[in-house]
Amino acid sequence: MKDYAKQALDVVEIEGASYGDIRIIDDITEDVSVKNGVPAISKNDRTGFGIRVIVDGAWGFAASPKISKDEIIRVAKLACAIGRASAKMKKNDVILAEEPAHRDKWTSTFLIDPFNISIEKKLEILLQVDEIFRKDPKITIAQGHLSFWREHQLFMSTDGAEIEQTILRSGGGISATAVDKKTGEIQTRSYPGIQGGQYVQLGWEVIESFDLVGNAERVRDEAIALLSAEPCPHGEMDVIIGGEQLGLQIHESLGHPTELDRVLGMEANYAGTSFLTPEKLGNFKYGSDIVNIVADGTVPTGLATIGYDDDGVRLGRWFLVKNGIFSGYLTNRELAGVVGQKKSMGANRADGWWSLPMIRMSNISLLPGEWELEDLIADTKSGLFINSNKSWSIDQKRLNFQFTTEIGWLIENGKLTKMVKNATYQGITPQFWGSCDAICNENHWHLWGVDNCGKGQPGQRAEMSHGAAPSRFRKIKVGLG
Ligand SMILES: [Zn+2]
Repeated sequence: MKDYAKQALDVVEIEGASYGDIRIIDDITEDVSVKNGVPAISKNDRTGFGIRVIVDGAWGFAASPKISKDEIIRVAKLACAIGRASAKMKKNDVILAEEPAHRDKWTSTFLIDPFNISIEKKLEILLQVDEIFRKDPKITIAQGHLSFWREHQLFMSTDGAEIEQTILRSGGGISATAVDKKTGEIQTRSYPGIQGGQYVQLGWEVIESFDLVGNAERVRDEAIALLSAEPCPHGEMDVIIGGEQLGLQIHESLGHPTELDRVLGMEANYAGTSFLTPEKLGNFKYGSDIVNIVADGTVPTGLATIGYDDDGVRLGRWFLVKNGIFSGYLTNRELAGVVGQKKSMGANRADGWWSLPMIRMSNISLLPGEWELEDLIADTKSGLFINSNKSWSIDQKRLNFQFTTEIGWLIENGKLTKMVKNATYQGITPQFWGSCDAICNENHWHLWGVDNCGKGQPGQRAEMSHGAAPSRFRKIKVGLG
């Protein structure tokens, strides 16, 4: 493969490229699911390569699933021709931030290769869950899935970089939907994760740690209990938000708005731009003093934990919010200089060999605080504890938002009491984070995986994790109406 890659880089230099890189990728996925007793299995093997060049100061990109000498030469020339054509429309030359030409190998750590576990064993777990769910006729949709992904990537550039990476991710989840036939009420409860599943950069061992079968009865019973639970109160309340839900809150209200391409108006899809404009960097009060949020491409088991991004930049850890102040962006080599950075933060990723990389979230986490969850609940006179996302919406600048969670409990006199359904909360991003007055400690802090973050046109999918512990927010608007 390295010979093919060298050939491509030689061709782009002859064609006049001032920079070129190639990613040769072999990517295998396996998805196993069961819905109401019916299994479905899909396996994919997507091999190919993508070549990216800068010609006359503009990007060119071309890709192909066919790895052969002739095809690599053809695609290298095509990428350069596209670069030359793009240059006619350019406003400014693309200038890349400095990065050493790394030569390295990087591999995910895991114990058990999930691709060595039989489909039968995977189905057995999901069918056992299905049986437990459907013991009660109120459950009308019983679902479970497991998914596994391994990617091997060779990255080489005209700068002299040569990076080989193997990434393994595993995940899955279960959900039960209960229906009250008399009232038509529908409620769903899922486990584990932000929204119907948890995904981690580990092997089969993580699926065993979920204990899906051992949790099925609780999930089923909670879905049924939600049918007759009290509706979420409405008004202003103190709210303790669980780690899974807070993970998605971080994703939508800080992750996306710190993507520098959105900030600069180069990307506007999927609730698109950002209120975090460059003059706010280093001085804007994003949250209360205890809010510290980092982007971290090195945190163990994070879905976006890799050695190097698709610019060949070595990953690190940096603050996006420090002591409540907005402190950093997600950048790539092309845009780092626009906000005065000499070096990219390493947030450039593509979803496969067929895509041009763009700024994607790293793992973004709220650092743990000092509270035990028990003490935090006891310290809350009257409020709500809510968790597990059901739905969300956020405006184009990522300021006004509304989230609904699967489940909630009232807090009365420092104790969790009645379960509530359709728990909804809303806010404006800086006011919301400004109202955070307590964060639980590292005993309650977990990384929650997002496996389907969408961005761009044509759309690309990316995976990342968000670390969070349950945290309290004062006087939040809850309930509808
Ligand atoms: Zn997203």
